[in-house]
Amino acid sequence: PFDFQGKHVTVAGLGVSGVPAAKVLHGLGAIVTVVNDGADERARAQAADLEALGITVRLGDGETLPEGTDLIVTAPGWQPDKPLFAAAGQAGVPVWGDVELAWRLRGPDAADWLAVTGTNGKTTTVQMLASILKAAGLRTAAVGNIGVSLLDAVLGEEQYDVLAVELSSYQLHWAPSLRAHSAAVLNLAPDHLDWHGSMEAYAADKGRIYEGNRVACVYNVADRATEDLVRGADVEEGCRAVGFTLGTPAPSQLGVVEGILVDRAFVENRQKNAQELAEVADVNPPAPHNIANALAAAALARAYGVPAKAVRDGLRAFTPDAHRIAHVADVDGVAWIDDSKATNTHAAEASLAAYEPIVWIAGGLAKGATFDELVAKSAKRLRGAVLIGADRALIKEALARHAPEVPVVDLDRTDTGAMRAAVQEARKLAQPGDTVLLAPACASMDMFANYNKRGDAFADAVRELGSADG
Ligand code: ADP
Repeated sequence: PFDFQGKHVTVAGLGVSGVPAAKVLHGLGAIVTVVNDGADERARAQAADLEALGITVRLGDGETLPEGTDLIVTAPGWQPDKPLFAAAGQAGVPVWGDVELAWRLRGPDAADWLAVTGTNGKTTTVQMLASILKAAGLRTAAVGNIGVSLLDAVLGEEQYDVLAVELSSYQLHWAPSLRAHSAAVLNLAPDHLDWHGSMEAYAADKGRIYEGNRVACVYNVADRATEDLVRGADVEEGCRAVGFTLGTPAPSQLGVVEGILVDRAFVENRQKNAQELAEVADVNPPAPHNIANALAAAALARAYGVPAKAVRDGLRAFTPDAHRIAHVADVDGVAWIDDSKATNTHAAEASLAAYEPIVWIAGGLAKGATFDELVAKSAKRLRGAVLIGADRALIKEALARHAPEVPVVDLDRTDTGAMRAAVQEARKLAQPGDTVLLAPACASMDMFANYNKRGDAFADAVRELGSADG
């Protein structure tokens, strides 16, 4: 184990990962300096808290490498091309992220790690996995970007057998020595490319999750890029590639046969060549992309030796977090669905594929995305579209190119009241049997503090419709 006593550790970034990391390192005897780009009120409060413990904090300068630094522990969001890291590279100073720190401190001893990454579906899959592991009687938690932090999980009082770990591409970039028991990459679509520099670099960072896996590397049969990452990974002897598919599974895969989730990778009874796990109806909600998430979670649980019955019980016990394909209400035969968490085109494509006909509410901050592919794939399902937010013109143009017959209401608004207006316009377009789907394909920050607030505004407006009807 790394001896921190008397070592000069620079923590890059205050905030949710930096503050606890600084405290832990200080407690281990390191001489800690925290550097932070900003110096706003929140940063000053956090700095005061740390300085009271004897930790040095430099506000307003996150670029200069403090003299004598032996190690940098960085917040995952800090971009690799920052001058601070160039200076570290030149000085031969290693850089760890929060995940690397947790792993080095006690990762392998605290619990086995079942790790999940992907462009979309991480949180849902990790929560499903934790639910399945719990149903098997294991001591577990969903950790990482959600719920319990990794540092708390490995250093806290609570003992775990196995952790369901969500990892972002940023965290993986900064976690070179992580070795999971088994891991899954759910899907790979362009996202965060400005941070990683290129699609290749983004994929390579995601692919790190498979390095050193012991039992299974779980990939998405429908997404070739995930399988390529498995092939490129250096794993322990005996570790298997296990695919999941919405179709009939081949040997070494999990899939779906006549409405049943079936495992052909980890078969308990040697007389049979497939193990039934659960019904599609046990998955909440039973939308195709979410069944894929359930299969990935099941694959990791099965790799860990969990029996079929616990997979079914765990999936039944699972309820999704808010704003992820949440059914808000039925009003006059129209279903209203909140998928405010669909903040990129890949996510929106998945929820648009789950309904028909759809009145689609979309728009917001595009983050450099293009909408042609999304609109072309979804065009035939659309009854109409209502557009809001800063970058709605991009979606409008894509609709004009690929779905010229679909009626579009361009609200030309970015104020918070626009969501109410959008709901009223959607109601005019919708016919009984339709679904009105909020799947913005964009970030929310042009109009709302976050996607939660956006989804709440939608749900409130929908409930108003319902109550106006009495
Ligand atoms: P993440 O943690 O990766 O952001 P979430 O589980 O929070 O993922 O889901 C985010 C959004 O992505 C959901 O609202 C849904 O629209 C979409 N989504 C979830 N799972 C998938 C999937 N397997 N493929 C594509 N989109 C998905």
